[in-house]
Amino acid sequence: MFFHVRDLELRAGRFDVELPPGEIEFFDPKLRQTGGLKASGKVELVTGSLGEIRVTGHLQVPMETDCDRCLEPASCPIDADFELYYRPVEEGYGEEKAIDPGEAEMGFYEGDGIELNDVLREDVLLALPMQRLCQEDCKGLCPVCGQPRNLRECQCQTAAADDRWEALKSLK
Ligand SMILES: [Zn+2]
Ligand SMILES: [Zn+2]
Repeated sequence: MFFHVRDLELRAGRFDVELPPGEIEFFDPKLRQTGGLKASGKVELVTGSLGEIRVTGHLQVPMETDCDRCLEPASCPIDADFELYYRPVEEGYGEEKAIDPGEAEMGFYEGDGIELNDVLREDVLLALPMQRLCQEDCKGLCPVCGQPRNLRECQCQTAAADDRWEALKSLK
């Protein structure tokens, strides 16, 4: 769904979509959409701006990624309101008014409007937590045998240490 600036000049646009997995490309092989993405909201021009577009709405999607520690699937469901701003990529514009870092998320668009799927992708990426874990206290992988340590505690650490002592002893 594409929103043209010239249409937005007349009236705000609305969307209410449900996109199956695969519809939005996330450009991250570790990131998987495991169910329908539901999003609804409004696209409008910011009054008094030079083509600045504001997108507000609600987005809900079950996402899954690899756990940062153990590489097992980690689910990251998103169910939240969002507010994103887009400024046209035009020379000179944006320099007069510095972007306030405390402001809502700001992006840029090229050409004569914005593609809704691009907005939704950006919102999903922003909504995902920085640290993605299968469980809050994930124990990660054993550095010796590579087994996930959440299921069972392996004895590698001690065994490896013992082996090293044995090796030292045998040098004498
Ligand atoms: Zn994990
Ligand atoms: Zn181990």
